[in-house]
Amino acid sequence: MTLLPTPHSPLPTDLDAFWMPFTANRQFKAKPRLMAAAKGVHYTTVDGREVLDGTAGLWCVNAGHGREKIAAAVHAQVSQLDFAPTFQMGHPGPFSLADRLAKMLPGDLNHVFFTNSGSESVDTALKIALAYHRVRGEGSRTRLIGRERGYHGVGFGGISVGGIAPNRKFFGSMIPGVDHLPHTHNLEHNAFTRGQPEWGAHLADELERIVTLHDASTIAAVIVEPMAGSTGVLIPPKGYLERLRAICDKHGILLIFDEVITGFGRLGSSFATEHFGVLPDLVAVAKGITNGTIPMGAVFARQGIHDAFMHGPENGIELFHGYTYSGHPVACAAAEATLDIYEEEGLFDRARSLSSYWEKAVHSLQGLPHVIDIRNLGLVAGVELAASEQPGARGYECLVTCFEQGLLVRTTGDIIALSPPLIFETHHIDQLIEQLTSVLKALP
Ligand code: PMP
Repeated sequence: MTLLPTPHSPLPTDLDAFWMPFTANRQFKAKPRLMAAAKGVHYTTVDGREVLDGTAGLWCVNAGHGREKIAAAVHAQVSQLDFAPTFQMGHPGPFSLADRLAKMLPGDLNHVFFTNSGSESVDTALKIALAYHRVRGEGSRTRLIGRERGYHGVGFGGISVGGIAPNRKFFGSMIPGVDHLPHTHNLEHNAFTRGQPEWGAHLADELERIVTLHDASTIAAVIVEPMAGSTGVLIPPKGYLERLRAICDKHGILLIFDEVITGFGRLGSSFATEHFGVLPDLVAVAKGITNGTIPMGAVFARQGIHDAFMHGPENGIELFHGYTYSGHPVACAAAEATLDIYEEEGLFDRARSLSSYWEKAVHSLQGLPHVIDIRNLGLVAGVELAASEQPGARGYECLVTCFEQGLLVRTTGDIIALSPPLIFETHHIDQLIEQLTSVLKALP
């Protein structure tokens, strides 16, 4: 076996000490899957096998792996200014980056608060929403509304508005005053829909019921992923997001989009807000902002929200919130280089133009054993398998077999999520479908 050396991490001799996140540690360590290198749309494993990246890492490596431009920018930045505080101090990086990002966002989503991850972006957005009402003299608006099957990271705010039972039930009391809208997934009405389903816009009306129950004067914000990724690629029904927006407007409730997955081209537009033509009040992003190279996240706020904070005394801190690494110089450099690549290579348009080929390809899996639904949008697809006796076991088996046969997929329970880098060529799509077809055909 040829083992690949990596520059700064020798091959481990013992896997015990690293407590892996969201992983069955004992199962993994009995038969590890370790990557050593990545270039373009492929990983190379420590034993020298090539693996096609069907998931852009973890929904983040939108411009593909090993981009020299990002590497050079990071290297130069570390050498010139490795760190500078952004509390009561600054450096040019986050100012330039925020200005550039603000110009990419539609409408007046033109102020940017930097974080280091999706989870931090979500908690930051929730806190901005709560503080916004408070600074405007509407401090009674403290309730938050999330959605079943929503994933908003792992902070206490995120798991409270999130709708995934195992992510909540081990961790005691959540933040109080949270309700959940129903999720929009429905196989009876929407199985094998291409793009947005026709059925389900009325599910947004549940928000009216929650408003009636608690009174609008107690509700701060609604948060949803415009397209839910981590819980199995749930595409919003036509008209659903528009309806949520209208109900929020009617009652003075802020609408937050969690675009940690959908941001930076995944749906074939810069952001889902643009794709769906629905303008939220706050947008949380991460992942693709640096092509996954350096941890970074951000929250975009509309002008009116930012303005509300700028009325206090000139010498007073407007928002008591921030992270040591908010606007970190190295992350800013990585983000600038990433945005350059997205622009120079027209990757968001590329995703859009590939999406019909992608749609046709993924729906060709219909009729294969165990496949009970296929759904797609932009360069994302969900392939749902019938559960075996032990829910999730078939999905896991699929992930492991795919990896062994040279394809990286992601599974949530028995749902396969596919989200390739936006630099995929049609022959990569063909290869992915071929590999997945052969795995599904052989899956017990
Ligand atoms: N929100 C959404 C929609 C996500 O998909 C994720 C991560 N998959 C997060 C938040 C959390 O991001 P992070 O893991 O960077 O904290």
